[in-house]
Amino acid sequence: MRTTAVKKGDRYIINGSKTFITNAPVSDVFVIFANADHSKKHEGITAFIIEKGTKGLSTGKPFHKLGCRCSATSEVFFEDCEVPEENVLGGEGKGWIIALSGVEWDRCTLLSPMLGASMLGLDLCAKYANERYQFGRPIGSFQAIQRKLAEMRVYNEVIKLAIYRVASAKDRGQMLNPLQAAVSKLYVGDRGVEMSSEALQVFGGYGFMHEYPVERAFRDSKLATIGGGTSDIMRMIVSRVMMM
Ligand SMILES: Cc1cc2nc3c(=O)[nH]c(=O)nc-3n(C[C@H](O)[C@H](O)[C@H](O)COP(=O)(O)OP(=O)(O)OC[C@H]3O[C@@H](n4cnc5c(N)ncnc54)[C@H](O)[C@@H]3O)c2cc1C
Repeated sequence: MRTTAVKKGDRYIINGSKTFITNAPVSDVFVIFANADHSKKHEGITAFIIEKGTKGLSTGKPFHKLGCRCSATSEVFFEDCEVPEENVLGGEGKGWIIALSGVEWDRCTLLSPMLGASMLGLDLCAKYANERYQFGRPIGSFQAIQRKLAEMRVYNEVIKLAIYRVASAKDRGQMLNPLQAAVSKLYVGDRGVEMSSEALQVFGGYGFMHEYPVERAFRDSKLATIGGGTSDIMRMIVSRVMMM
């Protein structure tokens, strides 16, 4: 982390930047992390609340993205951005703990849209498989298509359980289980890309067009393997927990 916060009287002067921030161009309030003391490594990281309009805080132009285009993503810049000390969140040096807890839940909230997309894909594909005729028969009568539908349904049932398990722990105020969160994120993400590709395939040429929402679900699905920690990082967490 190269963004710095230098204390000057009762204020901090923040300099640095962070890229790929979801909703940055439309946010009124930012929770940001900066290093107030490099010698303490991660224990020198402090969280700050900064309001839009604060001098020295700016955001970049929204990026052009493959998917998830309903939310704007941009860079955030801090140029001699002065923040009063009462805007420190959780105390100086406590940012690392706040960041970790935020990232873990962020990881989980990314999963629910994948469940929604999977349910939509199932409905659309089952309907299309009944309606589209090839070789004088509905394509749903071919085993190749039946297999895709069955695999998609199994994925849907499994991720529902995985996501509900994590969500119910949150509802009950429990600590997040890092293994359960990483397993869910990895499976929902990686398998989700395969399943959204299969949904698109059921539609043949129309799947490649903007006309049906399956192509959007296909593009959106990729983010679940990247945002909130990549699938490779999830594998690393799972294997680390196993060897503890
Ligand atoms: C649309 C979008 C929205 C985002 N929103 C936010 C946001 O709101 N807030 C925020 O803080 N971030 C956000 N991010 C950033 C996101 O969390 C990162 O992009 C993601 O964690 C990957 O980090 P990176 O891009 O630096 O990739 P890198 O870390 O550079 O990874 C590149 C490749 O190397 C692999 N890799 C890296 N390290 C290892 C390792 N140790 N072992 C094995 N493989 C490894 C990765 O898996 C990946 O395949 C967003 C990203 C996107 C695309």
